[in-house]
Amino acid sequence: MNDEREIALGGGGPGCRKRDPIVVARKVTRSFGGINAVDVDYLEVPRHKITALIGPNGAGKTTLFNLLTGFDTPDSGEWEYDGSPLAKVAAYKVARMGMVRTFQLTKVMGKLTVMENMRLGATNQPGESLAKALFKGIWGAREKEVTAQAEVLLAKFKLDTMRDEYAASLSGGQRKLLEMARALMVRPRLVMLDEPMAGVNPALTQSLLDHIKNLKAEGMTVLFVEHDMHMVRHIADWVVVMAEGRIVAEGPPSTVMKDQAVIDAYLGAHHDVDLGDSTGFERLEEELAHDDESVVGTAGEGLIGHTITELHGAGEPGPATVHAEEKKP
Ligand code: ATP
Repeated sequence: MNDEREIALGGGGPGCRKRDPIVVARKVTRSFGGINAVDVDYLEVPRHKITALIGPNGAGKTTLFNLLTGFDTPDSGEWEYDGSPLAKVAAYKVARMGMVRTFQLTKVMGKLTVMENMRLGATNQPGESLAKALFKGIWGAREKEVTAQAEVLLAKFKLDTMRDEYAASLSGGQRKLLEMARALMVRPRLVMLDEPMAGVNPALTQSLLDHIKNLKAEGMTVLFVEHDMHMVRHIADWVVVMAEGRIVAEGPPSTVMKDQAVIDAYLGAHHDVDLGDSTGFERLEEELAHDDESVVGTAGEGLIGHTITELHGAGEPGPATVHAEEKKP
């Protein structure tokens, strides 16, 4: 599944060409008050694959999502989705074209029911036009179709029993599921998920992972931002790493975790540590023992906690994980 040859033309590396890209972005930049939040020279997102976009806090991941989906305007650059240029295309049109996204903090409407939220996700609803709304014959059939489609999706996401509940009454994880289900109402080809696991109860984690894998199985492309490296290793076919607005590495998860640029981006000064093998781990552990300020992220959420836990085996946190936990107040 994670075969580099299947995805990239030639080798991996920042800005590498893909066999079949669904998104192509060139020289996309966005700065805020002198800070280059995004400065992406070239990026292709492979079709029918699950791509993880990772990087330390403030790397520009969400800003890049906002730009690609029309929620923010870049200072410069151009990008295409399935061959159509998207610069200056409004977010709602981007979604109608089949490129949808979810948000780090879910944007479900708490005062609407689960079903009403789902209906809002559908496109091509004649009842939205004032003139057509007067004639039920015109919009009634489409409304039935939309409701039927929503019911299928709600059942799939195990939210059907809550169809008439207010969305505000759902748990954080259920809201993430609802947002994902609602995004699917437009029958997208590309689904972009911004931190799908953040705030999700562990009981729902597996279900969310399965849903994301199912999107690919059903022929969709997935691009997701995530800090949970366990999830990235588990489901991503391809990993793109951002730091300070730029793409600093790309490749299959197993390769990227050993990439020096990735280690630099996450670990700052610890230049010669290879996260992919136990020798590297021992050296990192040794260095961290002398440098409290160098830990990026906290145990359980950052790259260190998960990667090192994995190096030591599941359920048995490595010493550096413990070290990170000890830093917590
Ligand atoms: P995180 O993993 O913490 O969500 P990120 O990689 O998604 O981070 P962004 O949220 O895209 O990073 O932020 C990139 C940089 O741009 C940061 O320095 C951030 O403070 C800045 N930034 C983002 N949005 C704005 C804004 N609307 N106004 C000013 N600065 C912003």
